[in-house]
Amino acid sequence: MIIAVDGPAAAGKGTIARALARHFGFHFLDTGSLYRMVGLAAIRAGGEPITAEAAIAAAKSLDPSRFTDSELRNEKVGDAASIAAVIPEVRAALLDLQRDFARKPPGAVLDGRDIGTVVCPDADAKLFITARAEVRARRRQMELGSADYEAVLADIRARDERDSKRATAPLVAAADAVVLDTSEMDIAAAVEAAIAAVVAVELKGRI
Ligand code: C5P
Repeated sequence: MIIAVDGPAAAGKGTIARALARHFGFHFLDTGSLYRMVGLAAIRAGGEPITAEAAIAAAKSLDPSRFTDSELRNEKVGDAASIAAVIPEVRAALLDLQRDFARKPPGAVLDGRDIGTVVCPDADAKLFITARAEVRARRRQMELGSADYEAVLADIRARDERDSKRATAPLVAAADAVVLDTSEMDIAAAVEAAIAAVVAVELKGRI
């Protein structure tokens, strides 16, 4: 079974996807971390702003064991990831890795931007997790500690714009995705709603 969890930055999809994997006993892949690894490797190879050549070379020779989680989480790396993610050759280089992971038995949960539309269009359940940009900026600001709210909001909006407007695999809800707006939900409520949505889709498939 494959569960695709897509949505914009800081909507809560990572937390929800991890909780779904735990609940159903499935494997979990944060596909954003792959793009972040490419962004960081490209920064290390050629500095900033990253070049297409450095990003493509990094994607083609990606070795996930070379990166630590803490290095990947900062905003600079997130921006480099979103710039690298626009490049079709980068996306193509990461496709097999994601699809191989999705086939792991007994099931897998993948979170990202294009899982339900491009990576796993035949996923058994698709969720699109979203929230208002202002709410997402507040959440990200709390995560980062003392960061300035207006700067975080501007960054979220720029990331949304880049992710939604790119020609290859733009951020968009799959036609058959269940859309979950978490603006007014806390984590527990959002996780509960996501589990219920997956169970409902699964039951519908059996009828
Ligand atoms: O989700 P996260 O913020 O870690 O992702 C970093 C960037 O990687 C996103 O802004 C997006 O541009 C890109 N990405 C993508 N497709 C995915 C996952 C992430 O384009 N499946």
